[in-house]
Amino acid sequence: MVYSPCFLCHAAAARGEDFCQPCLADMPWNHRACLCCALPIADPFSSHCTVCSQAPPPFEFAVANFRYAYPIDHLLLRYKQHGDEVLGAKLARLMLNSLSEDTLFQLSEATLIPVAMHPQDLRKRGFNQAQQLADSIAAQISLPVDNRLLATRTHSAQKSLNAAQRHQNLRGVFHFPGQAPKHCVIVDDVITTGATVSAVTQQLKQRGSEQISVLCLARTPAPGH
Ligand SMILES: [Zn+2]
Ligand SMILES: [Zn+2]
Repeated sequence: MVYSPCFLCHAAAARGEDFCQPCLADMPWNHRACLCCALPIADPFSSHCTVCSQAPPPFEFAVANFRYAYPIDHLLLRYKQHGDEVLGAKLARLMLNSLSEDTLFQLSEATLIPVAMHPQDLRKRGFNQAQQLADSIAAQISLPVDNRLLATRTHSAQKSLNAAQRHQNLRGVFHFPGQAPKHCVIVDDVITTGATVSAVTQQLKQRGSEQISVLCLARTPAPGH
C-alpha cells in the first residue's frame, strides 16, 4: 500500500483521509452546536442557540462540522492567502468525510450554490474558495453545482461590523438571475455571523427556491466563547 503522510504531522494518514487519526481526533469538532445555525453552544441541554430560539434564520439548517479554531483556521487562511488548491481539495475532502449519513441523505437531491464573490475580490484572490469547495464536493458525491449567483458589490470587508451592520451591509448584494433550483445547499468556507448565507437564502427564495440549507467547513464561535 502506498504510504500517505498526514498533512499536519507527516505520520501515516488514516485510510481515505489526508490526516492521521490523532490529528483528526484533535480537530476542533463542532459536536455541540445549534441545530439551526451550527453556532457552537456551551449548554449541553440546549438544541438551539439563543438567537435561533428567538428569531431563526431564513435557511432550514446549517452544517459546520468544525469550529473556526486551530488548525482549521490556519489551514483555511493558508488555502485562501496562497491559493493552495491541493490544500483546498484536502479541506473539501475533510468537510465531506465529516458529514453524517443523515446530512448526506439530505443533500442527495440538492443543487450546490457557492457563495459568490464580487469580480473585484475574485481578481484579487484569483479564485473563489466557496466555488472550489462546492466543485470538489460535487465531484465526489455527484451533485450539480449552479454558479449563477452573483455578488453585485464587494462583501468581504465585514470583519469590523457587528451582526446588525453586516445584515445591513449585505442588503441587495446577491443576485440570482432566473429561476433558482427548488432544493439548494449554499456552500461557503466559514460562517461568521450567518449574515452572508442569510442574504443568499433570501435571494434564492425570491427566485423560487423552496428548501435551502447551508454547508460550510467551520463556524466561528460567538464572541467570548
Ligand atoms: Zn497527523
Ligand atoms: Zn442558532
